Amino acid sequence: MTDTSLADRLAMVRAGIGEAARSAGRSADELTLIVVTKFHPEGLVRELLELGVTDLGENRHQEASAKAAALAGTAARWHFIGQLQSAKAKAVAEYASAIHSVDRDSLVTALAGARPVDCFIQVNLSGDPGRGGVDEAGLEALTARVLGTDSLRLRGIMAVAPLDEEPASAFARLRILSERLRELAPRATEISAGMSHDYAAAIREGATHLRIGSAITGNRPTPR
Ligand SMILES: *Cc1c(COP(=O)(O)O)cnc(C)c1O
Repeated sequence: MTDTSLADRLAMVRAGIGEAARSAGRSADELTLIVVTKFHPEGLVRELLELGVTDLGENRHQEASAKAAALAGTAARWHFIGQLQSAKAKAVAEYASAIHSVDRDSLVTALAGARPVDCFIQVNLSGDPGRGGVDEAGLEALTARVLGTDSLRLRGIMAVAPLDEEPASAFARLRILSERLRELAPRATEISAGMSHDYAAAIREGATHLRIGSAITGNRPTPR
């Protein structure tokens, strides 16, 4: 790969998003780009802020909370996108503007009484119970729990495309699940889907929040 700068890669991804939106008959203005900075140092986040990025994604509490503290007072908005232990949920709600990985009752219970936070219900499209997300059969019950919890503002649905399925088909299933969610929660219209390699397919299937890491940041350092 030729040596490209962060600014170049960000511009390329923004252009790709614009292109995918146009070909899907959508406006890029309805899309929120979340740049996933997990495992990368605070310095990279500062560079992104200088490039006008404000929505940032992290998947581990310890790392996210350290970055959020170091960058307090900047325009950074933190999206928590990883599997979340109930014991850490309240602490995450202190700095996160949105939690994308609400996937079980015990987590909803842990977030009741926490600082109010936007959230997405994560569904597991893979059929592998080891992956995060509520299974499709549990979607309505979990939605009802979230709607009954004052501190949670339900924005929509979230998923990661399974490794063994075409993203287009996985995201088409997600769109149908989003419609099921909206029957219970008409205002929860957002869809958090699409990563470095499948964001165009996600945009075609109605994604509103793209979580893109390595295509912008370059390869991730190994986690410490
Ligand atoms: C790491 C991660 C991403 C970004 O992945 P890339 O392939 O680097 O774009 C998106 N969503 C979740 C849940 C992640 O953990």
